[in-house]
Amino acid sequence: MVTASSFEIPDMKPSARAEAFLARPKRLLIGGRWVEAASGKAFPVYNPATGAIIDMVAEGDAEDIDRAVKAARKVFDNPKHPWRTMTPSDRGRLIWRIGDLILQHRDELAELESLDNGKPMAVANGADVPLAADLFHYMAGWATKIQGHTIPISVPYAPGARFHAFTLREPLGVVGQIIPWNFPLLMAAWKLGPLLAAGNCAVLKPAEQTPLTALRLGEILQEAGLPDGVVNIITGFGETAGAALAAHDGVDKVAFTGSTEVGKLIVKAAAGNLKKVTLELGGKSPNIIFKDTPDLAQAIAGAASAIFFNHGQCCCAGSRLFVEKDIYKEVVNGIADAAKAIKLGPGLAADTQMGPLVSEEQLNRVTGFMEAGRREGACVVTGGQRVGQRGYFVAPTVFTEARADMSVVKDEIFGPVVVADSFESTEEILARSNDTPYGLAAGVWTGDIAKAHHLAAQLRAGTVWVNCYNIFDSALPFGGYKQSGWGREMGHEVVEQYTQTKAVCIGL
Ligand code: NAP
Ligand code: MG
Repeated sequence: MVTASSFEIPDMKPSARAEAFLARPKRLLIGGRWVEAASGKAFPVYNPATGAIIDMVAEGDAEDIDRAVKAARKVFDNPKHPWRTMTPSDRGRLIWRIGDLILQHRDELAELESLDNGKPMAVANGADVPLAADLFHYMAGWATKIQGHTIPISVPYAPGARFHAFTLREPLGVVGQIIPWNFPLLMAAWKLGPLLAAGNCAVLKPAEQTPLTALRLGEILQEAGLPDGVVNIITGFGETAGAALAAHDGVDKVAFTGSTEVGKLIVKAAAGNLKKVTLELGGKSPNIIFKDTPDLAQAIAGAASAIFFNHGQCCCAGSRLFVEKDIYKEVVNGIADAAKAIKLGPGLAADTQMGPLVSEEQLNRVTGFMEAGRREGACVVTGGQRVGQRGYFVAPTVFTEARADMSVVKDEIFGPVVVADSFESTEEILARSNDTPYGLAAGVWTGDIAKAHHLAAQLRAGTVWVNCYNIFDSALPFGGYKQSGWGREMGHEVVEQYTQTKAVCIGL
């Protein structure tokens, strides 16, 4: 196992192509032009593997948000604007081109993502970037399939009168989109793909920790031929730029992905003009292994990956592991062995399996949870501490013997920390699984099909994975029950959430 003293971070040199991107000025995209922040301010972007500053990015604030919203409104409010008159088919082709360009620049985007976020480049290249491209390709198809209905109406108080009634599905207008740092490019794709398919305009605010791929995507949108002002990108801080976007009266909807705590602030900020709100928030997802699971080794590997993938920085991380009593010890040992075998290192190193956490703040937060778990009496099976002195690395961690009231059991840690416990009956584990304010995802491992269906029906979560975990697809809706959110990402559902219904009734 790696220890603080034995762990050295090699200095990895970015490719010439990434260096060339880093060397370019990082400005705000407003109305098709790359401009400095009105304040002239910029903020640093860090490499989480070393803590070194790798770039400076324009620090947009309320004034820049206002400029961006006005630029988006200028497009949306002009019925003759090329974006407003574009045929659905042309819109679909444009969105498809964005997907193609993402694939064309796959290596560069993966490297920038890895540098900025810390995730292994192989993961960015194998998952984040192709999934982002696939999302645009999938959404391209929806552009031509957004349609209303004709509705035969009776109007009982107007006997003999005849009407032709139908619905139109129209875009909402200007949408503020606020995204987190855990899958920076993919979250931008999840937001922008359906927004464009439905013909809206956007002001996108990436997370302060990871603005780079959103800015590169801005260039790609221009290269694809998206008209100026349709998508505006404002880098900056949540408390200033994000809050201004959520509160702006010129914004028709805010679509947010992030913590439940900030989600509640978004709802309050949106109240001023009652803009529509969708939220993808946190989770504390249960992952349940029954002794009748057909392949225990696969379940153990799946449970390890459910919590350790992306360093546990997944809203749907399987952070509460429940194992049926007879196999509990075997599973805990298996997960601990998997944790110990994970190779930590900088994202750019080819053999890295887990990179650093995204920021010093996150490092402090996650190690704070580890200390709290230990202090409150939980048992550390493996991990439980920072690794090395440089960068923001922590050891993949397994806790056992934690009580239900401990913070490691209740709170979203957003790091590679799993709390394991045993159970004895299906009804017991259903009640314990659902005993959380969150409801984003759940995992079930069993060979009993009736049990699988029973749990899938009774678990209060937006996604239930059976004999698998972390399976995402552009066509499969994803989102939260309870305090894990409002609305869904991906699939047909998200397209609906970027449109509104207009009923038209014509007297004949
Ligand atoms: P966060 O603090 O909630 O930040 C998310 C975004 O909101 C960032 O762009 C942030 O800007 C912005 N923000 C912060 N304060 C704001 C405010 N007062 N008004 C408007 N915007 C504000 O979350 P995080 O810690 O960066 O990200 C991790 C969280 O996201 C986790 O809790 C995780 O579960 C959740 N998440 C959920 C999903 C999902 O699909 N359900 C997906 C990914 C992540 P700055 O970064 O610039 O401060
Ligand atoms: Mg933040």
